[in-house]
Formats: sequence, structure tokens, C-alpha cells
Amino acid sequence: MKFDYKNIAEKFNQIKSVDFSEEIVNYSTIKNKLENLTRDFPFIKIEKISASENGIPIYLIKMGKGKTKVLSWSQMHGNEPTATKSLFDFLEFLQNPLFEEEKNFLLNNLTIYIIPLLNPDGAEKWTRENFFGIDINRDAIKLVSAEAKFLQSCFEDILPEYCLNLHDQDGWYSVCNTSKPTLISYLSPPFNAENQINSTRKIAISVISKSVEILEQFYPNRIARYSDEFEPRAFGDNFTAKGSSVILIEAGRWDKHRNFEVVRKAYFLSLLSIFNNIVKQDKTSFNVNKYQHLPFNKLRFFDLILKNIEISKQILVDIVIKRVPFVRNNKIEYYGKIEFIGDSSIYNAFEEYDLLGFRAEKGKKQIVTEKEIPHCSTKCLIFGKKGITNLQIEKKQTKGIGLNLERIDCNIPTDILVGNFANFSLINTKNEVEFLILNGNFISLKILDFPQDKSINFTETSL
Ligand SMILES: [Zn+2]
Repeated sequence: MKFDYKNIAEKFNQIKSVDFSEEIVNYSTIKNKLENLTRDFPFIKIEKISASENGIPIYLIKMGKGKTKVLSWSQMHGNEPTATKSLFDFLEFLQNPLFEEEKNFLLNNLTIYIIPLLNPDGAEKWTRENFFGIDINRDAIKLVSAEAKFLQSCFEDILPEYCLNLHDQDGWYSVCNTSKPTLISYLSPPFNAENQINSTRKIAISVISKSVEILEQFYPNRIARYSDEFEPRAFGDNFTAKGSSVILIEAGRWDKHRNFEVVRKAYFLSLLSIFNNIVKQDKTSFNVNKYQHLPFNKLRFFDLILKNIEISKQILVDIVIKRVPFVRNNKIEYYGKIEFIGDSSIYNAFEEYDLLGFRAEKGKKQIVTEKEIPHCSTKCLIFGKKGITNLQIEKKQTKGIGLNLERIDCNIPTDILVGNFANFSLINTKNEVEFLILNGNFISLKILDFPQDKSINFTETSL
């Protein structure tokens, strides 16, 4: 049977699980779904329920009656939520009457095991690691953590021909050295340091190759190959060594606004094509070409690059800035960080500006009373034109405004140094502040519409 991916992609908004409106996915997000799984998706069986180190349930679910067994797990790293959403989107796809034939095809040929949210404690704290700070994907040999033990026991009970190891990668990878951020990357993990390719890996590579061909029709030049350096402590590498064809899928980034829904759709199409290609994979003829010519992922893409700025007399540099996500009050926020100062010629960014003729000056601060805090563009501009990036107040203030807020006793550094928060002004030859770098965002003071959502509030709880 032939899958019509174009039709499926067009109908994605009807297919997808509607419950994921936030980027964050933790146990409370999917608790209801898990508790009602067999009611909502009658083709599912709950195989096992275990618990995380902090006692949160971890499910192993099963569907299908095919001879090829596939074990997949998501959010082994707590702050990597895309695959969990896509797995539920996949369940919705199977449930959708429009795709009855595709469902029967997959479930008659495959037995699919899924562990959605393997690391619920990490998801709760929004960390990569588990409750005790252990990276589960570096625990495949010692098996110290409850989560690693559970994954290992599932693998040993099932002995799957295929494993799908599902992750999100940092949002600053590009497809090799191009100016295209990676949307999806793939890997067939190696089983030894020599990176040899045996028949098990050949199968995984062949399945990936066919998926890349499909995805590239939708997202040309946005698919990359993940680093294939051998990591003996990782599950993918170990399960490959044990004879399973392991496929790692990493969700990347779409655009500067971090449009998660686009990434989620691409990830769903990737996952679906992998399941379909597994069924169709011939054990004797392999299509490895596409994977072997896939460009590698490179960590060379940033949020903002400012070129040719004077930071001291006659010293011209480029300043490279990242907007780093963190979680506060169960929401993702970003802080701007100076990542690199110097020659940025090997890097690309979502936004780049040539600022020849401008000099940078550290962000100024001004103490204000609660009444003096600006709440409109015009008032923010008055401060901005003086090069003020941070307003200082005596006590905690929860309401966000256009400029950064900090408590008087906090003393957030604004020096233009690597590792510091990116808050400074750019001054033209007439000695006027023309642009502000505010929390890593490029803001033109020539425009009256001073954005109210770019700044950061340092008066609230820790970053
Ligand atoms: Zn990961």
C-alpha cells in the first residue's frame, strides 16, 4: 500500500492530537491521556507500568499484531517534548477513519511498543537528566537509574528488530555549513568506535534513507545527519550492538520564532514514514545512498550575529548571540546570551546585521519607582535612547514591560563579555543610540513600536 504523504501532511491539523497547546510536556500534560488510553484508542494494550525515581508512572503500551517488533521511547531527556506530541499524533492518525487502510497496513505488519515520556521527573523539572541528575542516555551500561532499568527490561522482554530513539536537539544546528537550520536529523548509532556498518545498521540506514527522500519533498535542505561518534554509554549504541536496527530522530528548529507546530508536523511525518518504511524494508536489498550523502549537523547556527562593531577604539568585532530557553512558572522564556566575540565568518544566524560605523556600549541602568516603570512604547523609548537596558526597582515586580527589570540588589552584569546576558546599546557616528540589544533581541529605536515582550524580568524567581 502506498502512503499519500502529501494528503496526510495537508490534513495534519485535523489529525493531530489537540491537547498540546504548550511547548512543555510533562506527566500532568498527558496524565489524562494515559489514564484513558485503552478507552480512547481501543487498539492499544497497556503492557507494563513502572515508576520514575520520584514515583511518577511510566507506561509501556503495545499495538498491532505484525511479526516485526518496534520499540520506541520519547522524552528520555525530560526537556525534549516533540516526540511525545508526535507519538500521540500518530495514535490519533491510527484512530482517524480517513486513514483506516494505512492503520490496518501498519498494525497488521508491525507490533509497535511505545514508552511515551520515559523521564517524567526530568520533564517536571524541565531538565535533560532524571530526578537525581543522571543522564539516562549515559546509563545504558551501569543501569543505575530506574528509567534506564525500565528501558533495558522492556528491550530484553521484547527483543525488538527495530528501536526508535526519539529526541530534540539544540536549536542551533545547521545542515552542515549552510545557512539552513536543521529541522530533523537522523542517525543509525554505531556499535563500535570504528563506526563499522553491519547488516543491522544497513537496515536502519536503508529505512532512514527512504524517510529522508520523503521528508525532503516537504522540507528541502533541512534534513541532516546526527553525529555518529560512538558513545558506549548510550542506549542506541548498545541496542545496535545487541542486534536491533536503531533509528535516532532528533527534532530541530524551523525559524527564528521557534515555530514548534511546524517542527511537530515534520516530526510526525518522519515518524510515520519510518514505521511505513520498516514494513516495506527488504532484508536483502538496501538503499543506503541517501543517508550516506546526508550532510552532517553542525553547531554553527545562532539567533543573532552583529558584524563589524567597535567595542573599543579601532577594535572591530562580530558579536554572536543565542537566545537560550528556560522554564519559569511552567512556561518557556528566553534569555539572550553573548556566545562569541570576534570573527563570526564560519557562523550563520537567523538574524544578521552589518553595523560598520556603530560602537557598542554596555547597557546602562536606572533606578525607578514602581510608578516610573514604563508601560508604553513612547516611555520605553525615552529610556532606550539613553542606552538604558535595565531598570532597577526595590522589590519584586511580576508584570513584564518593554525593558529589563532587576532588583537593586541583584546587579546583573551588562558588560559585553562572552557568557554574559546580551544587553547593550549600539551608537551611531552622531553619538545617538540607534539600536538596543535587549535580552538578545535587536531593537531599532527609529521605530516607535517598542516591543513589550522581548525583555526579561530578573526580579522574579531564579533563571
Ligand atoms: Zn536527547
